[in-house]
Amino acid sequence: MATLLTNTFPNDKEGRALLRKVRRAIANICGHGVSKKGVVLTAPKKLKPGRDNLKSDYKDIWKKCTIEFDENETGASILMKSYRIRLGPFFLRPSIKVVDMEEVLLHEFLHVALDIKDRQFHHGMMTQILKYNMGYKEDSAIFVD
Ligand SMILES: [Zn+2]
Repeated sequence: MATLLTNTFPNDKEGRALLRKVRRAIANICGHGVSKKGVVLTAPKKLKPGRDNLKSDYKDIWKKCTIEFDENETGASILMKSYRIRLGPFFLRPSIKVVDMEEVLLHEFLHVALDIKDRQFHHGMMTQILKYNMGYKEDSAIFVD
């Protein structure tokens, strides 16, 4: 199970709004909500291992992921070795939608789940997966690393 570190989000109006969007985004991509303790049991169901070129153990990789808010993060990123997905203050703005957070979370997860070693090819593949395979409208690489 991945873990949403709810305590890392600012405890104000904007922080709570972002946390709600992240919870809904996770429910949309994983098919179920986040538990009270922040646990997300299932790997994103919208991803298809064959179609999307995923590592065979991508479900185990999902279990190691954590999702947190980080004041010092400029966009969003994932630490490749520790599987920490970090969301920065950019996403506190009210114009950010649930669907944006879906793309951001999928984007960062794909950096560790794609069966492509060379990171420079990741973003091209993500455009293929998110835009053409899954039907998202925006290009997720706009505001994330
Ligand atoms: Zn990226």
